[in-house]
Formats: sequence, structure tokens, C-alpha cells
Amino acid sequence: MRRKPAPEPQGDGGTPSLPGMGPSARLPIEAGASEPSAHIESDTSRKFSPSKLDTYKDCPRRYRFRYVDGLRRRVETAETLVGSSVHKALEGLYAGIIHGRELSLDEALAVFDQAWTAGWSDAVVNRHKEYGPQHHQSAGRDCVRNYFSAYAPFKQDATLAVEKRLGFSLKADGEDFRIEGLVDRLARVAPGVYEVHDYKTTANLPGQASLDEDWQLAIYDIAVRENWPDAREVALVWHFVRFGQTMRSMRTAPQREQLLGDIAGLIVRIKHDHRFLPRRSVLCGWCEYRDICPIWKPVPSDGGMLAKEYAVQESKRRGLREKMHDLEIQFRQLEDDIVKYAIEHDVGRLSCSEGDVFITQKEDYHVPTRTHAPEFYAALEDRLRETPLWKQAAHIDLHRLLQGYDSGEWDAAGAKLVEEIVSDCAHIKRITKAVVRFHLKKEEEPE
Ligand code: SF4
Repeated sequence: MRRKPAPEPQGDGGTPSLPGMGPSARLPIEAGASEPSAHIESDTSRKFSPSKLDTYKDCPRRYRFRYVDGLRRRVETAETLVGSSVHKALEGLYAGIIHGRELSLDEALAVFDQAWTAGWSDAVVNRHKEYGPQHHQSAGRDCVRNYFSAYAPFKQDATLAVEKRLGFSLKADGEDFRIEGLVDRLARVAPGVYEVHDYKTTANLPGQASLDEDWQLAIYDIAVRENWPDAREVALVWHFVRFGQTMRSMRTAPQREQLLGDIAGLIVRIKHDHRFLPRRSVLCGWCEYRDICPIWKPVPSDGGMLAKEYAVQESKRRGLREKMHDLEIQFRQLEDDIVKYAIEHDVGRLSCSEGDVFITQKEDYHVPTRTHAPEFYAALEDRLRETPLWKQAAHIDLHRLLQGYDSGEWDAAGAKLVEEIVSDCAHIKRITKAVVRFHLKKEEEPE
């Protein structure tokens, strides 16, 4: 079907503004529109791992550096070295069990120590200067001990594989993709009952709710079912070995369906991203690309002067805002006093030499809003839909439509629909405009 050309924009207000179009900007851009940052080729990958997808969700620019530009910069920290060494020890343990030989605790600790010693060097980043390498090594050994305390002699299940590559195929945007990653350990507890095990050496223990929403391990649930058709139950098991605690979660069939849709939507989003905008967050503190990231890389001195001027003006503006706020409170109080007086004395006007204050009374409607009273709002909408007034009194919510698109809320089919609608009915004009925000510098932020 031939598409109707979209109407030409009529100056600034001619086309609907497209809220939230910043982050992904997958939709077609009007030819000749200026680009605030360099346009780069989109990602051509056909294979995605859970951590690769997670990198994009956390920060598209970091994703671009690592997976599109191919800049591999592994930063080893004391914590990551503890993690990989504990993994080596537990991998050795279960690899031995598969082959009929169980490692003793001392042997598993020796595997840990060997991995630790081989990995430790002056290049390893130790963020907690108060602790030397022995402290971290000892914390890692405790993780292995905790695991042995909880599970030796390891008869709870039958280990099928360790460090196993597992995956499945997925269609997104009409193309085939492969989702694949490494599982720490895969076990069978009973016929048709499987467990996906993941070792965590983090110093934080998450809540059950966050594990019930975790999608990284849930991906392997789908992969196990695809590879072992007898799987009727797949449990996701996390071992927080610093705490000696095991946590579990399971996914229902509708949740797995939803997850597949979310992954397809995310892949569509990545494939159409030509900008990979940086997303500042606490993760920047651990990012290996800070020195080349547009947000953190060193700026020429004239840029610094502009920032200085901005800081001065911003602090003046904040001062004025605070004064305005105080003034507003006094003003509201005075208004209340005037209204009370007018009602008490039954007058509609107060006068002085500077002018008149008129007091009018009116009634206002309080209607439910989608944000503050969603149930009442839905009932109101249903009621209105039944009436001929619907066409006149309702309006389309473009902001919501595009916000859902940008945030990846719509599934792959929904995202495609938005693209078609925008391509048919709108022009997107990208305007070079910086959104400036000022933050007081904190000590941990780099110069
Ligand atoms: S420093 Fe922050 S914003 Fe920049 S690439 Fe890394 S995570 Fe993204």
C-alpha cells in the first residue's frame, strides 16, 4: 500500500512536538535536519547475550563503545577478580563431580588461590584503599567456605553442565537473532525439573521482588526449555556466596512470553539506534570508557568558562526562586485573608489608593486524572467512549505513545506500529538543542 505523504511542518508549531525522542531516536529523521551528535552506523549484530542487552539498557553509549566500535577494555577490580576466582573454584568443584571426583574444601580453596594469584597485579583496581589484596583474597575464600558449608557433599541434584553456553533463537522486526549466554551451572533435580544456578559475589543482597523481576537468569529458563523439551519446571537459583544465602525464583508461561516480547522490542530498538546517547548514572563510576565518554571526557578551557558562567547564573536563579517561593506563600495567605474578609462583610471589592481587589466566587470541576486516580479515569473514559461526544472530547496522547516507544515499553509489534504511524502521519525535525542541567560537583565526580 502506498503511504500518504506526511503533512509538511508549519513553522515551529505546525507538527506535533515529539516528546522524549532524545534517547533512542529510531524513527525516520527529516532529511537535512541537524544532528547534535555524530550519526553512526547501527549495530549489525545477530547475536545478543543477556549482559550485552543489559549494557544497552544501562547506557547505549557504553554499548556502542563495547559492541559497535569494538573497544574492548576490561578493567579488573579487586571485586571482579574475587568474582572470577570464586567462579573458577566452584566450576572446578562441579566439573570434578561430573567426572566422579569431588574436590575437598582445601582443594577448592587452592583453585581459588591459584586463580587469585594469577589475576592479581598492580593493574587491578582496588577501590577500597583501606583494604589490601589479602583482605579481598580472604573475602573470596570465605565465599568458597560458605558455599561448602551450605552444600557439601553436593548431593542435592545432578549437575548437567558448568559454564554452559545456552541460548535460543528469536524473531524481531522480521529478522532472526540468537540470544545466548553462559550459565554458571545447570542441574537436574528430578525428571523434567531443572535449575539454573548463578554465583554472586556482590556485597549487596537484593530483595526477593527484584529477583522475581530479574530477566538475565530468566532468559536461561527459556533456553533450557528449548534445549530440554522434557523441562516442565525450571527454577532460577542465585547463590549470594558472601552471605551464604541462596535465593530462588520461577517464571510463569505468560511471564516468559512477556520476556520474549521485551527482548524483541529491545533488539528492535538497538538495531534502529544511530546515536547511542550516553546515559549518566551511578554506573559511570565503574565505566571503563569515562575518558572518551562525551559526558566525562576533559573539555577545552573555553567550555569550562561557559560552565562557570552557567554556575554563577544558576545559583542566582535558585536564590530568586527561593525568594519567589516565600513570596508566593505570603501572597496565598493574603489572598485567603482577603477572601475571608469579603465573605464576612459580604463585599466583592476591596479598594485602596493603589487600586481595587475584586473577589469573585466560582465553582470548579475536579476530574480524575490518569496519574492520580487511574481507576476512576478508566471508568470515565469507558463512559465517554459510549457517547457520541467521544470524538469531540477526546484527544490522542502523542506524548504517551512516543514515551512508550522510547522507553521500550511497547513490544516489537507495538514499536513497529509507532514507526509506521509516525512515518505516515508526521515529520520529525531534530533540532540541535542541548538540555542543560547543573549539578553541584560532588567529591567523587572527576574534574
Ligand atoms: S561514563 Fe556513563 S554515560 Fe559515559 S559511556 Fe560510561 S556509563 Fe555511559
